[in-house]
Amino acid sequence: MILPKASRLTPEQLREVTEIVESFGCHLQTIVGTTRTIYAIVGDERHELLFSRIEGLAYIDRVDTIQSPHKLMDRRSDLATHRMRIGGVELGRELLVIAGHCTIDPKNPNLFYETAAALKEAGVHVLRGGVWKPRTNPYSFQGDSRSLDILMEASARTGLPVNTEVMDEMHLQAALGAGVDMLQVGTRNGLNYSLLRHIGKAIVARKTLVLLKRSRHMAPLDEFIAAAEYITHFGNPNVILCPRGTMPALDGYRNHPDESIIPLLKEKTWAPVVMDPSHAVGRSIYVEGCCLAAVAYGADGLCVEAHIKPAAGIGDDPKQAVTPEALARLVEKARAIWALRQSPGSPAPAGEPAGTAV
Ligand code: PEP
Ligand code: MN
Repeated sequence: MILPKASRLTPEQLREVTEIVESFGCHLQTIVGTTRTIYAIVGDERHELLFSRIEGLAYIDRVDTIQSPHKLMDRRSDLATHRMRIGGVELGRELLVIAGHCTIDPKNPNLFYETAAALKEAGVHVLRGGVWKPRTNPYSFQGDSRSLDILMEASARTGLPVNTEVMDEMHLQAALGAGVDMLQVGTRNGLNYSLLRHIGKAIVARKTLVLLKRSRHMAPLDEFIAAAEYITHFGNPNVILCPRGTMPALDGYRNHPDESIIPLLKEKTWAPVVMDPSHAVGRSIYVEGCCLAAVAYGADGLCVEAHIKPAAGIGDDPKQAVTPEALARLVEKARAIWALRQSPGSPAPAGEPAGTAV
């Protein structure tokens, strides 16, 4: 990781550094953070001479190496000071709330507009709405591109940024073209490196955020973080980790709720963590408990399926969605837990001053 003395390299300096890096068979990846740009050496960068040549340049502050399987996402990475913002919230400073339908019903746009208005009233920061849907059974409704217009119309009416899942390059281009602010990678694609590569490349030089769900077949945390790193290394570090329950299911819950991994993620990575309780537990009555537990464990935000009339919804909404009123109540409790976590003496991950947002 190369850190220049100034906030970024000039084009001539970049050319000089690139030449040196490439002469060692590596290449240089520019990562644009909030306050400074850093440069990652991609490839086998363990050449002492490579380091000393770069460190010898007058405009270079230092070259850091981190022995970690995901050095860009590591808490010791210089990207750790990177901050993400969406819906008026800086992640880590305030609890981010994402909510909306599992699936937008293209035949009934008004339901989505009503939900969107009620969620805005309830204090939600980002509106979610499924346009294209991965399903447990491939013969179930798989979504409809027309729902993208409904999503963007709801965004225009409420002023809320929006999140939707993309499953292939066509969805990706359509979503970015329409102005979707946060792309969701679903659990079935959490390890689809081809999709992650397309996303990573497509969001370079954009403000787009990615909500990366934990693959339900993903056991080790390092695999989850490495998937986030793969998106980041193309140049946009706005990747949020989203636990959502893993397989096999816990009898009674749709999946095996995994909010307890949040402190473990926080120890390893600076990336924000937003919990999806809805798919973890799979029943609206259990959603609040999962949200509160996630915040107690240190979540930076929640992504909750919510619907003005869950029974009239499609996809997961009849079972999982909470009403905007229930959401407002649970968010109030979640904020109280968030505030407790800020109190002096609260445990914090290594390197994080106790009593600050984690
Ligand atoms: C969803 O968010 O509606 C969804 C399908 O999520 P997951 O990929 O976590 O199952
Ligand atoms: Mn869903």
